[in-house]
Amino acid sequence: MAIATINPYNGETLKTFTPLTSAEIATKLTQAQSAYIAYRQIPLTQRSQWLEKAATLLEANSQTYGQLMTTEMGKPLKSAVAEAKKCAWVCRYYGEKAAEFLQDQPGESDGSAAFVRYQPLGVILAVMPWNFPFWQVFRFAAPALMAGNVAVLKHASNVPQSAIAIEQIFREAGFPDNVFQTLLIGASQVETVLSDQRVQAATLTGSEPAGASLAATAGKYIKKTVLELGGSDPFIVLESADLDKAVKAAVTARMLNNGQSCIAAKRFILQSSIADEFEQRLLEKFQSLKVGDPLAEDTDIGPLATAAIRDELAQQVEKSLALGAKALIGGQPLEGPGNFYPPTLLTNIPPDAPAAREELFGPVASVFRVDSLDEAIALANDTPLGLGASAWTKIETERDRLINDLEAGAVFINGLVKSDPRLPFGGIKRSGYGRELSREGIHEFVNIKTVWLD
Ligand code: NAP
Repeated sequence: MAIATINPYNGETLKTFTPLTSAEIATKLTQAQSAYIAYRQIPLTQRSQWLEKAATLLEANSQTYGQLMTTEMGKPLKSAVAEAKKCAWVCRYYGEKAAEFLQDQPGESDGSAAFVRYQPLGVILAVMPWNFPFWQVFRFAAPALMAGNVAVLKHASNVPQSAIAIEQIFREAGFPDNVFQTLLIGASQVETVLSDQRVQAATLTGSEPAGASLAATAGKYIKKTVLELGGSDPFIVLESADLDKAVKAAVTARMLNNGQSCIAAKRFILQSSIADEFEQRLLEKFQSLKVGDPLAEDTDIGPLATAAIRDELAQQVEKSLALGAKALIGGQPLEGPGNFYPPTLLTNIPPDAPAAREELFGPVASVFRVDSLDEAIALANDTPLGLGASAWTKIETERDRLINDLEAGAVFINGLVKSDPRLPFGGIKRSGYGRELSREGIHEFVNIKTVWLD
């Protein structure tokens, strides 16, 4: 894929970039390594002040950054502005909490004393997706930089200007040169970076094939990885649920970011007794959503990020319909310019249809009906993915079963799955491994050094 900003609203190519050569990559890695030697000695209080400055810049320029994100990948402007502000939150969170998370931990031993010290690893590669072009990067970078690492970012090829803007934010915030660098490279150049001996570890947020490829390279060179991959999150609604709240949350959980979120609710699993009512109310909400220009204030759903993403979604829905699924609304891409796909509600989905088996990355909700809690849990777990799960019930015994038995990195009871700097975030099964955010997130890219004293 060419490295370019192509406005998904009208298909206009706004800017293109030439990928770095291997020699240019090598120079940047040399710069990153020498930046690391000095940066690891900088006190946490200083790093924290720079992160605070980054937070201030993100807030002060949230409108500008929001417009940039919307122009590059099509999310509604209000969510893009909110995303820039959320990045300020994660900067402040780690700026304040890192000292506590990185404090020496005493341990028992046969010596006079023993403890664990958390130290940086060095240059970390981040391979990031376009769907939250700022948030995905900041939630990795804030803890990694606080821990004393330096970062090189390979961002998705369709959001190069966001990648450049993020590098500028860190520089303007006061971080020394080359502590955070954007590498404008294609996916095929990731191996060149990861195989370099100066790069110690990598994190990737994106699709399963990309994660598998990065992990294979990392395995070859024995390097630590964190993978945040796809999700096909269940949204289970049981008979006792507060339907007003559940329907409202269901719309946001499915439609946020034009439906292109890893933790979006993708499979709605409804207890039969409330299924008709829930489905009808969801349908009415979908009908009321405004699809259009993502820069307009009142737009709920903008275009999908690329034509290829829209075409893949269209094929998955078409195949599901051919196998017997029914579309209560939507079901086909919209005509005209822009990568528009309308809100779509699928029912009667056969178990072998893409809508049941695959991640649908767009504004398409798949509805399933079950008779019991056991059936709901079995269906929710019947996927190779395990990122998040949302479940709605007022009954305590049901709640406990859901918390214990859902196979996911996170279970939200009577709430939609969301990321929060204070809570660990990540998946199990083919959704990846490792955690971001909270105490766990900052410990992914550190040397957990055991110290023993005689
Ligand atoms: P993608 O194609 O995998 O791209 C993600 C990043 O990986 C991009 O920078 C891409 O570069 C790079 N990449 C692609 N193939 C690669 C390879 N073989 N080796 C190394 N790097 C490679 O993913 P996407 O379609 O943009 O994003 C959607 C997916 O991300 C969905 O499955 C979604 O659920 C998942 N996601 C997960 C999370 C999470 O936290 N778990 C969050 C957001 C999204 P190019 O752009 O140059 O191809």
